[in-house]
Amino acid sequence: MNRQTKQKLRDALIFLTYYSGWPALRVWFYHWRKVPLLRVIAFHEIKDSEIENFQKCLVFLKNNFNVISPNDFLAGKFSKIKANALITFDDAFESWLKNVLPALKKENLSAIFFTDNRGLALIPALRQAGQTIGGHTVNHSRLTKITRDELAFEIAENKKQLESATGQKIVFFAYPFGDKQSFNQTVINEVKKAGYQYGFTILPGFNKSKTNHYLWHRDSVDLNWSENFLRTWLAGAYDGWKKLL
Ligand SMILES: [Zn+2]
Repeated sequence: MNRQTKQKLRDALIFLTYYSGWPALRVWFYHWRKVPLLRVIAFHEIKDSEIENFQKCLVFLKNNFNVISPNDFLAGKFSKIKANALITFDDAFESWLKNVLPALKKENLSAIFFTDNRGLALIPALRQAGQTIGGHTVNHSRLTKITRDELAFEIAENKKQLESATGQKIVFFAYPFGDKQSFNQTVINEVKKAGYQYGFTILPGFNKSKTNHYLWHRDSVDLNWSENFLRTWLAGAYDGWKKLL
């Protein structure tokens, strides 16, 4: 199956699943049991041409979710009657300062910026805007493919540098790439050992209180998606298909 066919099949399955009513029923059931649900959104670069879509996406999130700040997350301030959303960014882009910070300010939102050492120069402006910094290794390495020494260095050195740049303890970490091949038990142990409290993947899904703190689900959102597609995706219509496609 080529990539395009695969994607078409994926999209068809997502819509079928969504309109079966199953994802909405599942969310309703959790809320009926007073179980807080959280989707974590992962953005990367926001290009000049994407500012408008990005702003629309933030408004969509505010209208459809209880958008929480990193501090709300740490304090466990989740809604139990509406799905929660936490916003994050990965890597290191100059465009964060120009395109992301003004949009977040306009919507009065705060996010976690997971950055490798390329992002050190961006930290003062991000911190001044009240944003939270998270670790993402020194060189954005695929952590399952390097030696134990390199692994320890990638995680601990990045944390040290980010802490000296922010003057704060860094508690959030995102595995570079975030897919299933980006972490294993050795990697998770090293993240824990470095003193991180939370590890984030890029595997879509609802996070619940029993979600492993080092394997939080995240949704990598594409700003070219239609609002309807974003709605079906974040309702969890794709979560079960991820393993098959
Ligand atoms: Zn990354």
